[in-house]
Amino acid sequence: HAKRSGRNTFAGFEPGMDTELKLRRELEADLAKVLERGELSLCFQPRVSMKTGAIICYEALARWNHPERGLIGPGIFIPIAEQSGKIDAIGNWVIREACRLSLDKLSGAPISVNISGHQLRSRGFVDNVLQILEEAKFPPERFEVELTESILVEDRDRALAILKAMKRRGMKLALDDFGTGYSSLSYLRAFPFDTIKIDRSFIMNLAQDDSSLAIADAVMNLGRALHLSIVAEGVETVEQLTILSSRGCDEVQGYLFSKPMPADIVPREIEGALAEILHKIIGSTRTA
Ligand code: C2E
Ligand code: MG
Ligand code: MG
Ligand code: MG
Repeated sequence: HAKRSGRNTFAGFEPGMDTELKLRRELEADLAKVLERGELSLCFQPRVSMKTGAIICYEALARWNHPERGLIGPGIFIPIAEQSGKIDAIGNWVIREACRLSLDKLSGAPISVNISGHQLRSRGFVDNVLQILEEAKFPPERFEVELTESILVEDRDRALAILKAMKRRGMKLALDDFGTGYSSLSYLRAFPFDTIKIDRSFIMNLAQDDSSLAIADAVMNLGRALHLSIVAEGVETVEQLTILSSRGCDEVQGYLFSKPMPADIVPREIEGALAEILHKIIGSTRTA
């Protein structure tokens, strides 16, 4: 049936599939105008030093405020933007806006920005990023990109050359969602990362599941051996923090400290909060 009806290409699909495809197409069309309509915004989530409680940087996370559908998360619209080719324009906007907001609202604090594979492989990516930073008067040393392993697998040599060029210009590199992808140890040695972020799925089960703990532990040991900072993503409970603290995790990020929030209301210091929590942990282990 699908072939017969030239105009209605959805004919013949299951009803569920039908609505899903329609929704996707609708979002894809709306996404084309998202920048000119000013519907995108950024939230920021602090990454906190386990040692000092200081904020190391803020991760910028994109949000889409759809006029009819309300808030749409990046897990939905970033893959659509990647497939429709809109990701480059959106990605440039994210970098520009993150720099602007850091300087305007966050005292110029370091920021990290998620980059998709399509962006990294786009022509002149490094120069393009440098130009945005320069125009924003944002120092490359305070700018970190977060990438997932899948990006490195596709065209390894090219990805390596691009990442090395970024490092030479002073930018920082983080490997995001570590443990969920290929997790090839050779990447860690070959690619010039500064930071590894342990995926939230391992942190989530840290207290309940021995294998999650073993994996997190292994990544922390690896990080130490390779002189990389290890960040735990998605820390939600004091119990998780306690475990991470006792295992020597360098930095933590998660709802326990702050959800991602607009730049004007995201906490600008949480040293006090972390110090207090850590004090309680140390206090309780001492008296135990
Ligand atoms: P990610 O880079 O791994 O970001 C972490 C995600 O976990 C964020 O979801 C964040 O809100 C969420 N999160 C942080 N702490 C906690 C916690 O304690 N508990 C729970 N349950 N979740 C937590 P979000 O904002 O929905 O972003 C999802 C993904 O979308 C990001 O994963 C990133 O891969 C991608 N993304 C976000 N913004 C951008 C962007 O501007 N460009 C690109 N290319 N990708 C983006
Ligand atoms: Mg990230
Ligand atoms: Mg992540
Ligand atoms: Mg992710």
